[in-house]
Amino acid sequence: SAPLFSAIEMAPRDPILGITEAFNADKNPNKVNLGVGVYYDDNGKVPLLACVQKAEAQLMEKASPRTYLPIDGIAAYDKAVQELVFGADSAVVQEKRAITVQALGGTGALKLGADFLKRFSPNAQVWISDPSWENHRALFEFAGFTVNNYPYYDATTRGVNFTGMLNALNEMPAGAIVVLHACCHNPTGADLTEDQWTQVIQVVTQRGLVPFLDMAYQGFGDGIEADGKVVRRFAEAGGPLFVSNSFSKSFSLYGERVGALSIVAVSSEEAARVLSQLKRVIRTNYSNPPIHGGQVVATALSAPELRKQWEEELAGMRVRIREMRQALVQNLKEKAPNHNFDFVIQQRGMFSYSGLTKAQVERLRNEYSIYAVDTGRICVAALNSRNIDAVVDAIAKVL
Ligand code: PLP
Repeated sequence: SAPLFSAIEMAPRDPILGITEAFNADKNPNKVNLGVGVYYDDNGKVPLLACVQKAEAQLMEKASPRTYLPIDGIAAYDKAVQELVFGADSAVVQEKRAITVQALGGTGALKLGADFLKRFSPNAQVWISDPSWENHRALFEFAGFTVNNYPYYDATTRGVNFTGMLNALNEMPAGAIVVLHACCHNPTGADLTEDQWTQVIQVVTQRGLVPFLDMAYQGFGDGIEADGKVVRRFAEAGGPLFVSNSFSKSFSLYGERVGALSIVAVSSEEAARVLSQLKRVIRTNYSNPPIHGGQVVATALSAPELRKQWEEELAGMRVRIREMRQALVQNLKEKAPNHNFDFVIQQRGMFSYSGLTKAQVERLRNEYSIYAVDTGRICVAALNSRNIDAVVDAIAKVL
């Protein structure tokens, strides 16, 4: 065999893809996949938002040539995203201390930030929550960082181990890179309170840590404004600040790869230097981003009619998930009265750490064709009015 490849081992399988493969092979017509990371509507379909369809119709009408975009993407997109993330009248936007570049989804934004940080802060280490989105660790490790965990989830309270988290932050060296979920923590669904964020911002600022906020679910918690508040509060505390945001979920544009990386500096002059270097990271990776998704989102965010429609459609997704949380808890109260699932209502976003054990998850899969992640994470957005009864019955039986 070829010498270059002969020593290469098979990479470990992606655990979530494994669930999807097993689900697809299952012949049971009543099978349910709660292992996914996307929003399904009540018909079990990934929606194509009406605001997206209208933006696309407008763009088709224009029939623009497909020249290269600037390295940092569509200017109107970057501006609209920056205003969405920080607020149009915020100090960082007004004083031109924030820079925003179009990125290939939230993942692409994280990777741009990671590559930039590795270049300009090569000796820093990264801290992610325990647990975190499964790609955070590998992404920062592949960028060359040592990645550590800070305590986050407390299985006994099914909430945040805030004391543990704060203690860990208090022990990090200056310059440490702290990845924080801005809202709708994936995978646990457990978010910090406003008061807890105040304390986190205080420690991060005092100790000179570098916050990297990952906002993949803006609008899925308490609304676009409310969910974005943490980012604005960090920005008000001053730079440096990294923010990756994604429209995969909020616009249901998963495959179009639309996201952005924003960086807050202490002056506009510093921000300009940062942008110039960030462009080199982009230029040497993929040169410039694709056009379509960015144009759709820029159009939908900027045209008042479409913007209003987007906000309504996003609210619709948020409300439906909440209703499914309520239904799950209500129905489990009847079917499994000895178990308390009230915490599911407090959780935010698409996911719930259900508390189901690995053995219970296996029974759900083997006996009821209901697929969840081994950690007990279920996607609440995959529940609907037709599958909820079967899911509740099965959970009640495996408890
Ligand atoms: N960050 C978190 C916390 C996520 O849950 C996800 C997607 O699941 C991402 C980032 C990546 O988003 P995207 O699909 O836009 O790359």
